[in-house]
Amino acid sequence: MFRLLKRLKATEWLQALVSLVFIVAQVWLDLKLPDYMSEITRLTQTPGSAIADIWLAGGKMLLCALGSVFSAVIVGFFAARIAASFSQRLRSQLFSKVDSFSMEEINRFSTDSLITRSTNDITQVQMLITMGLQMIIKAPIMVIWAVTKIAGKGLEWSMATGVTVLIMLAVISVMMVLVLPKFRKMQTLTDNLTRVTRENLTGLRVVRAYNAESYQEAKFERANTELTETQLFTNRGMALMMPIITTLMSGLNLAIYWIGATLINNAGLMDRLTLFSNMVVFSAYAMQVILSFMMLVMIFVLWPRASVSAKRINEVLETAPSILDGKKTQGEPDKEGEIEFRNVNFRYPGAADDVLCGISFTARRGEIVAFIGSTGSGKTTLVNLIPRFYDATAGEVLVDGVNVRDYTQEALHNKIGYVPQKAVTFRGTVAGNIRYGDNGKAAATDEEVITAMKIAQGADFVEQMEGQYEAEIAQAGSNLSGGQKQRLAVARAVARKPEIYIFDDSFSALDYKTDRALRTALRRETAGITSLIVAQRIGTILDADQIIVLNEGAIAGKGTHKELLKTCEVYQEIAMSQLSEEELSA
Ligand code: ADP
Repeated sequence: MFRLLKRLKATEWLQALVSLVFIVAQVWLDLKLPDYMSEITRLTQTPGSAIADIWLAGGKMLLCALGSVFSAVIVGFFAARIAASFSQRLRSQLFSKVDSFSMEEINRFSTDSLITRSTNDITQVQMLITMGLQMIIKAPIMVIWAVTKIAGKGLEWSMATGVTVLIMLAVISVMMVLVLPKFRKMQTLTDNLTRVTRENLTGLRVVRAYNAESYQEAKFERANTELTETQLFTNRGMALMMPIITTLMSGLNLAIYWIGATLINNAGLMDRLTLFSNMVVFSAYAMQVILSFMMLVMIFVLWPRASVSAKRINEVLETAPSILDGKKTQGEPDKEGEIEFRNVNFRYPGAADDVLCGISFTARRGEIVAFIGSTGSGKTTLVNLIPRFYDATAGEVLVDGVNVRDYTQEALHNKIGYVPQKAVTFRGTVAGNIRYGDNGKAAATDEEVITAMKIAQGADFVEQMEGQYEAEIAQAGSNLSGGQKQRLAVARAVARKPEIYIFDDSFSALDYKTDRALRTALRRETAGITSLIVAQRIGTILDADQIIVLNEGAIAGKGTHKELLKTCEVYQEIAMSQLSEEELSA
């Protein structure tokens, strides 16, 4: 928790300091009340006191009470302000930190946990700061101050108070031992609930189609019940605390008056008044002591959960991204658009075996290089090494003659137009989706957007949409078909005017005709741009300058379609399974 609090800004510390002043003022005013009470008691018990004096004392008491309320409001105001601005900043810091993570870190934390950490966990911390700032500081000041006020006012009463405090500490300790571990568990259970909910929502169609509602519900029920039970346990424990403390408080009050009654009974006539007034004052201070402990209990309720949350937030904030920026922004001028793999191996973090093994090839400027192979042969993994979604475990990946690790990521990504296997769209307009991101040059003009969509063979369907290029794309592109989303994603890469295209199986959602038209348009309109195409269909890559056949993570053959048909067995198998006799002999 304290590690996290180090991230508070100077202005926030200043506000906390101002709150501290008001908290001290509030405690001072609260502790002033019993003094006036004692004075009023003395006045009423002394024959011949003027009523005006009693009014005066009462008036001062009222002023103190009002002052205390005023201070409490000010402290509450600052506490809420500090907590809100601090959590706003934490959320932003978490967001940009997660943005800087490579796939490795994202997978390590899991998306669900990252969501809980940026929402629920921050709320826990925010709550602690809002409530805690008032109580954490106030309670100890109050206890110490009140104790000094009652010290020496009566041994018997002090002992009674001491015993009550001891009992209370014992109760609090037992509770903490029982409840603390449950608080730790609570955040993990919240992660779990987020995961089940998300899985259900994203997979809703499959859940419906497979009549898996009851299975999903049972899964949700389990996660939900587990969280509820943990919460019930902790809440019940905490709920028990309050009656125990009130009982202790009343018991103490009773004891003080009982002891007082005995003392007064045994005292001489002269001492009785002093004793009576002392008793009233003592009981008032003793209540303040117990109340402070009650505040401490409230903090104990919030602290464990918030400190677990703070630890989880810190974990994210303190994780260094494994993919770090290099310094270069430019490649070698004579190697523009060139991609080279030099003996590259790759193994996923935590995996037992290499997924890629000894991969070497060069794609020259303007060439079309295609990758083909059975599923799981490592095609996606290979192209993911170019934009550094992962870093090669061994060997070198070069873009424009420079190792990708030496570029700043921004410069590297500016060279690349990447289209993933599963097209990603963002909520917004068609044009906004095509013009997406920053390529270090001026944003694409309206004409460029239209041209890009024409090349991607998507102009027809966009023109039929209401509002055309200003038409709204729903969240996750749910108002587009798979092929339409795919073409939008291709247009986004084209509008970027990159040096290199990476199409990761991006044409598989297209029919053959569109697939062919798109590739012809790309070749014609964007000559000079190197294209890496991962493909399932041989038809997509017949005309590639170079085809690389992958088999179990290694290169099984390299060459043109014609060459591979003669030399590469794996390629022949794929070709025979997909092409007719005429196509093969042609
Ligand atoms: P392809 O694109 O040729 O179908 P991939 O490159 O997606 O193949 O996957 C190659 C292999 O790497 C597969 O065996 C797959 O199980 C494994 N793999 C893919 N992604 C991950 C990952 N994030 N973590 C661990 N293993 C992975």
